[in-house]
Amino acid sequence: MNIHEHQAKEILREYGAPVSNGIVIETKNDIKDKIAKLKDGSYVLKAQIHAGGRGKAGGVKLIKEKNNLVTEAEKMFGKVLVTHQTGPDGKEVKRLYIEEASNISKEFYLSCLVDRASSQIAFISSTQGGVDIEKVADESPEKIITKKIDYKKEGPSNDEITEIISIFDLKGEQIKEGKKLIRILYNILIDKDASLIEINPLIITKEKNLICLDAKMNFDDNAMFRRPEIFKLRDLNEEEPAEIEASNHELAYIKLNGSIGCMVNGAGLAMATMDIIKLYGQEPANFLDVGGGATKEKVTAAFKLILADKNVKGILINIFGGIMRCDVLAQGVVEAAKQVNLSVPLVVRLAGTNFKEGKKILEESKLKILSASDLNDAAKKIVDAIN
Ligand code: ADP
Ligand code: MG
Repeated sequence: MNIHEHQAKEILREYGAPVSNGIVIETKNDIKDKIAKLKDGSYVLKAQIHAGGRGKAGGVKLIKEKNNLVTEAEKMFGKVLVTHQTGPDGKEVKRLYIEEASNISKEFYLSCLVDRASSQIAFISSTQGGVDIEKVADESPEKIITKKIDYKKEGPSNDEITEIISIFDLKGEQIKEGKKLIRILYNILIDKDASLIEINPLIITKEKNLICLDAKMNFDDNAMFRRPEIFKLRDLNEEEPAEIEASNHELAYIKLNGSIGCMVNGAGLAMATMDIIKLYGQEPANFLDVGGGATKEKVTAAFKLILADKNVKGILINIFGGIMRCDVLAQGVVEAAKQVNLSVPLVVRLAGTNFKEGKKILEESKLKILSASDLNDAAKKIVDAIN
């Protein structure tokens, strides 16, 4: 789960990290009143969308005169921003953050994340702030330090912290502030089940202060049951509607860009199904695991989700009935097909518990279904059908 910059900064503030003062605007009607309460000075208008690269796309704007803030805020509100992280359709700005402007002297990169490969907590620090860290890693890897911390310890040691911030070449009071920030990021990551905290840029101002100027936080979805204070920060406006619908039905669904919709039970089988579609030269439209003991209602919801995707030109259902019963699946498919107009080819491969009953239900439904004997045959049939 992702949260907005202003929410991430609120968490940083609670933990005592240096962030600037700012206000959040959630409806266009509030713009005038909220801005009227600000004191004179320079501000930065920041579009709150769950995507980076806002600066280059016009989603971060320095407003030197407070008098111009209302006009500029009204212009930015509702605008569709296309950044390298939003995809070509972009994202509509439905929230603004207005923050006091800083006089930047240096911009750094700092992040703290769960490094799955080493099962450790990694800190990444770089002198190249404000740009994509992937680009820095490609072009000037010597400007990045990666330090891995054993999470079983109490937290990073003083030596480890010194190494993490060494690349910033901090002076005097900044060193104390920098060390404190490393401990704060570590504590937030652990306390809140975050998987990534990224401060890009972390800056030194002309007045020599250290400030977190941007903040991004990702959290582990599987831990949100025990972090209600984080879960309530979820902004459904920022999520794929199909994925929200899927989570309401406890379906594991991820939308992809291909044209073959997949309905499978079991994550491993779902991955294998996607692989074999690619092997036959097509791309899957989604990952969908209906799970073990799916009910007819769940299967119906899943089938409708697949059909709601305009890119879907054909559907492949691949079910291995273990706990899942093939007849229940068949009932769900027939029910969903009745409710929505099924106009694309459908290939079904059933095996395992009650597969004969399942096949019978599908045959008697008079739906146009191509049945397949095994996974290979199924993939070939659906690819042929849409070609
Ligand atoms: P994004 O990463 O989405 O582009 P950032 O919050 O990093 O958005 O902002 C982009 C750039 O805008 C920063 O690298 C910084 O140079 C500038 N900036 C952002 N916030 C402020 C601020 N409060 N004061 C001054 N400059 C800012
Ligand atoms: Mg940034």
